[in-house]
Amino acid sequence: MEKLPDHIAAALLPWYEANARPLPWRQDVTPYRVWVSEIMLQQTRIEAARGYFDRFMAELPTVGALAAAEEERVLKLWEGLGYYSRARNLHKAAKIIVERYGGALPADESALRALPGVGDYTAGAVASIAFGLPAPAVDGNVLRVCARLTCCPDSIGDGKVKSAFRDQLREQYPAGRCGAFTSALMELGETVCLPGTPDCPACPLAAMCAAHAAGRETDWPVMPVKRPRRVQPRTVFILEHAGHIALVKRPDKGLLAGLWELPNVEGELDEAEALCLADAWGCAPEGLASCGRAVHIFTHLEWHMVGWRVRCAAAPERFLWTDGPQRETACPLPSAFRYYKAQL
Ligand code: SF4
Repeated sequence: MEKLPDHIAAALLPWYEANARPLPWRQDVTPYRVWVSEIMLQQTRIEAARGYFDRFMAELPTVGALAAAEEERVLKLWEGLGYYSRARNLHKAAKIIVERYGGALPADESALRALPGVGDYTAGAVASIAFGLPAPAVDGNVLRVCARLTCCPDSIGDGKVKSAFRDQLREQYPAGRCGAFTSALMELGETVCLPGTPDCPACPLAAMCAAHAAGRETDWPVMPVKRPRRVQPRTVFILEHAGHIALVKRPDKGLLAGLWELPNVEGELDEAEALCLADAWGCAPEGLASCGRAVHIFTHLEWHMVGWRVRCAAAPERFLWTDGPQRETACPLPSAFRYYKAQL
């Protein structure tokens, strides 16, 4: 395994002090705020997460408040961020922290890693940023920096590469500056050592970077081979009865587990088939209109959706018939349905 250059921290920390962005979770740093922000930032861009973070903190400012909240309220605060298992795990972990640690996150990397939804990366981020421990947090951005510094020939999707860089970085953590070192590595990957256009003239590590010395920065990192996403056609229904819209709850396990959704089925139904299905559900359909097509992309799956709006004379109990305020307060709808939700 290629060895990282020595003295990364000495070159990186002065740059970070001068260039750190004033992000909401970097102000008033507490273990709870760092933890929630790191969970939110998994699979979510910083700009998208900002508003959610502020709203989450205003409504649930402590571990205790999160633990005591209803799950639906937590999911509602997460509505639109996607990957809802993150919110569920956050909620479960908060209850454990209250029961086991009296409401204070444990200042220990292994104990943090044992919490639901907390992996090596999040445990390292919280341990170093919130508690000042020498615990690396190696995400895709940090991996890219490390791979370029060393011209690493192996795929960054290989777990061994990640753990080798984590072990090497751990040895370089500067006493008293652990949190800043973690944040600085992330910041460099997010703002300078960008995937397609690294800004090497502005990089504090340029003098020690092997990819830069070779003038081939974008040849690294070696990326894992991506499997193509499966495309699944679906038909989505806006069933309307006396000003109320039908929702249904998804199963407790699997994709979008336990969330409310507009009734939908696999396959693309034409007008006659859609009417027939609404009738079979007991909705006594009186008329139907197209409400357009939409695509939603999950990690390994694409939903290609066609929508039908159906006027119903009956309101069968298999659905929850909701008004606007009810949908806003109690029934979070995943962003997969954003296009149709805008038409409710
Ligand atoms: S010199 Fe360029 S490629 Fe190397 S770490 Fe800095 S930004 Fe990335």
